[in-house]
Amino acid sequence: MQKPFLTAQNLKRDYHGGPVVVNALRGVDLTIAPGEIVALSGPSGSGKTTLLNLVGGLDSPTSGSITVGDLELANLSDRALSGYRNRTVGFVFQNHNLLPHLTVVENIALPLLVAEIPYTAALETAAEVLDWVGLTDRRDFRPGELSGGQAGRVALARALASNPKLLLGDEIIGNLDSVAGEVILNLIRRRVTETNMTALIVSHDPAVANWADRTLHLHDGATRCVASQTRE
Ligand code: ADP
Ligand code: MG
Repeated sequence: MQKPFLTAQNLKRDYHGGPVVVNALRGVDLTIAPGEIVALSGPSGSGKTTLLNLVGGLDSPTSGSITVGDLELANLSDRALSGYRNRTVGFVFQNHNLLPHLTVVENIALPLLVAEIPYTAALETAAEVLDWVGLTDRRDFRPGELSGGQAGRVALARALASNPKLLLGDEIIGNLDSVAGEVILNLIRRRVTETNMTALIVSHDPAVANWADRTLHLHDGATRCVASQTRE
C-alpha cells in the first residue's frame, strides 16, 4: 500500500475554556493518501473545524498524533510549526478572512511576504495565481467589491500561492450558488491533478461529497471518523 500523506491517530481535543469541558474530538483516526481529495462532513458542532485547525497546525491536540509527510506535528517547535503552516499548508477559511483594506493581489501576496519572499517576487506570484483562478481583471479591487464566488477564488488563490502540499478548506462553498461552487471545486481538482496536492475539505454539501474521492463523517459528538464512501 502507498505510504499515507496524512495520518491522525486517536486524536483528542478538549476545550476547557467555558463552564464545562467540551470533548470536541474524542479519538479521531484517519489516513489520507498523497493526491487524494477527501470531503469531511458531519453535523454542526461535530468537531470539523477543530480537526481542520489541528491538521493545519493552528491548534494543538489534547492527545493523539498527526503526521503529515515526514513530520510529526507534536514534535515540532513553535518555529517549525509556523514553517509548516507557511510552507506545507494552504488554508481556505470559512469566511475567507480576506483583509478588507488590502487589494485582491495584496491579499494573495501577504502570506508570501510573511514568508520573507521579496516584494516584487511575491506580487508576481500573486498575479500568476490570480490569473490561474481567472480573476486578473479584479487584481486591484478590495474584497468588499467582489461577489461571494470571486472572494472564494481569491481565498483559494491565496492558499495556493505558496504551492502547498496540503489544502484545507472549511465550508468554502457554503454560501455559494452551484455554478460558483463548481468553479472552485474544479480549480481544486485541477490543482491536485497538476501538483499531486492533497486536499481535505469540510462541507455539508452533497455536491462536495460527490466530487471528492472519498468522504469522512464525523458524528456521535465527534467520537468516530469513518470512511463512508469511496469513488473509483
Ligand atoms: P464544527 O466545525 O463541526 O461545527 P467545531 O469544531 O467548531 O464544530 O466545534 C466542536 C465543539 O467544540 C462544539 O461543541 C463547540 O462548541 C466546541 N468548541 C469549539 N471551539 C471552542 C472553543 N474555542 N472553546 C470551547 N469550545 C469550543
Ligand atoms: Mg465549523
